[in-house]
Parts: sequence; C-alpha cells; structure tokens
Amino acid sequence: MNEQKTTTENRSEGSRSNSGGGSGAGGGGRFNRNPRFGSFGGHGGRRPFMRQRKKVCFFCANPLIQPDYKDVDLMSRFIADRGKILPRRNTGACAKHQRRITIEIKRARELALLPYIVR
Ligand SMILES: [Zn+2]
Repeated sequence: MNEQKTTTENRSEGSRSNSGGGSGAGGGGRFNRNPRFGSFGGHGGRRPFMRQRKKVCFFCANPLIQPDYKDVDLMSRFIADRGKILPRRNTGACAKHQRRITIEIKRARELALLPYIVR
C-alpha cells in the first residue's frame, strides 16, 4: 500500500517537474509582462489625490471628552445606522481611543443603552 502510494507520488512529481522546467522559461517571459499590464490598469482606476486633510482623533482633540458608555449621544456617533461599530477609517479615532470606543460601546450595548443591531 505504502510503496504503491510513494511510487505514484514520485512519478507524478517527476513528470510535473519535467514539464514545468520545459515551459518555465516561456511562462516566465509572459508572467513578467502580465503583472505590469494589470498594475497599469489598477493605477488608472485609483484616485491618488483623494483627501489630504489630516484626521485628528476626536478624543485626542478634546481631551476633556473621553469614551464613556454613559454618554449615549457621544457613543452613538461611532456606530453605523445598523448598529455596527464604525471602523477606524470612518471614525478617524486613533488606535488607543478606537479601542476605548469599542469597549464602551459594548458596555453600553450590554446595558441596552445602544443597540446590538438595528433592523
Ligand atoms: Zn485618540
């Protein structure tokens, strides 16, 4: 059983490496061109000059205000219509405060101050 398996594996591997070596040179030439073409198209589709304004973390900008589960009005600004917690790219919060925000929102959810989900 084992011997048969190994022989078949060896066979297939050998044939593979053989054919791969033969077509490898030609394929390599093609492969070099294709990614270039693809990246070109991708570059054209993107908009490099989108926004240059710096987003400052809301809580860093206002040190007196901190994420707080009791402050429903404040925390509800960091959840989407559907009740999802907004990602950092949307909230503009720094990593430290985004972490606090998620924790406080989850606390508020536990206390039914904020929704888990909005239908
Ligand atoms: Zn911050």
